[in-house]
Amino acid sequence: MSKRDYYEILGVSKDASDKEIKREYRKLAKKYHPDVSDELNAEEKFKEASEAYKVLSDDEKRARYDQYGHAGVDQDFGQGGFGGFDDIFDMFFGGGGGRGRRQRRNAPRKGSDLRYNMSIDFEEAAFGTEKEIKIPRTEECDNCGGSGAKSDSDVETCAKCNGTGQVQIKQQTPFGQFVQTTTCDRCHGNGKFVKDPCPTCGGKGKVRKRRSITVDIPAGVDDGSRLRLRGEGEAGENNGPAGDLLVVINVRSHKLFKRRGDDVLCEVPINFVQATLGDEIQVPTLDGKVKFKIPEGTQPGTSFRLKNKGVPHLRGSGRGDQHIKVKVIIPEKLDKDQKDLLKNFADISGEEINPEEKGFFKKVRDALGM
Ligand SMILES: [Zn+2]
Ligand SMILES: [Zn+2]
Repeated sequence: MSKRDYYEILGVSKDASDKEIKREYRKLAKKYHPDVSDELNAEEKFKEASEAYKVLSDDEKRARYDQYGHAGVDQDFGQGGFGGFDDIFDMFFGGGGGRGRRQRRNAPRKGSDLRYNMSIDFEEAAFGTEKEIKIPRTEECDNCGGSGAKSDSDVETCAKCNGTGQVQIKQQTPFGQFVQTTTCDRCHGNGKFVKDPCPTCGGKGKVRKRRSITVDIPAGVDDGSRLRLRGEGEAGENNGPAGDLLVVINVRSHKLFKRRGDDVLCEVPINFVQATLGDEIQVPTLDGKVKFKIPEGTQPGTSFRLKNKGVPHLRGSGRGDQHIKVKVIIPEKLDKDQKDLLKNFADISGEEINPEEKGFFKKVRDALGM
């Protein structure tokens, strides 16, 4: 793979000034530093930009590069690339660099999210409900307000860092003076010392509690829906906000209904006489029973639609539909009178009894060449 031109990498012209080069590198370093960047191949791009900067910011190396290209400076970069990128970064931005995303220990941090799996009934999912749940979570200690100290006077501010948890070190570099920020070594970044710990939380500033929370479940949730309750998770660190509580919905199956999106599916058994002659039947819906007219000559498996009898839409107004699938039941046991009547029916109907039969046997003959 051929190396890209250093000027091109930094996006500057061949006669760019030192200042310009520094400015452009600074932009790229900020964008691609692996500790802060979410960009694809951030690390590679960061290294590429740093290498370009190392060469172009050095008059002697830049002159060699201008004359001989990469061949003029490649010996400066050993096999394992060259280190010191973080140093350059730290020089520019102070602290921040280093391995992993280091954060000030006493910086506010959001608490962790909690997850709760909740099972609800089919109807509850359809129409919404309110549920009270109990979750164990970490909360800020009421007694000390999270400080971990017995009283306010038991908190001593670190004299070395003035409670910031960080100290600044001034550094002289070829570009001028840079200030580097590091964790205070006296308080290890806490910024304070607790002399007498709070008896309730033992100095942690937090306590475990089982908390009752009312969860408002909106109409139209489905199996797998997630509800996010902001601020109901674990307590944050250093006055940071609490995490969220994520309620994951599991909808129990229903004896009669199935769900497809916001539509409700239901199978309704009718007998062959009802299917043949038509009838008015009672159909169960989420709103209770409704009357429905089965038309004459209904075939097995036919579906009918009841508009707006489905599940309310979670977002927006309106509801899905209910689909009724007709299941025609053929009687298994008939007494003699019933059989005679049917035979009589068959005699009267003659060949007409199955109008599809002729067509069917023609297809069989065609297919088998009989
Ligand atoms: Zn406490
Ligand atoms: Zn300190």
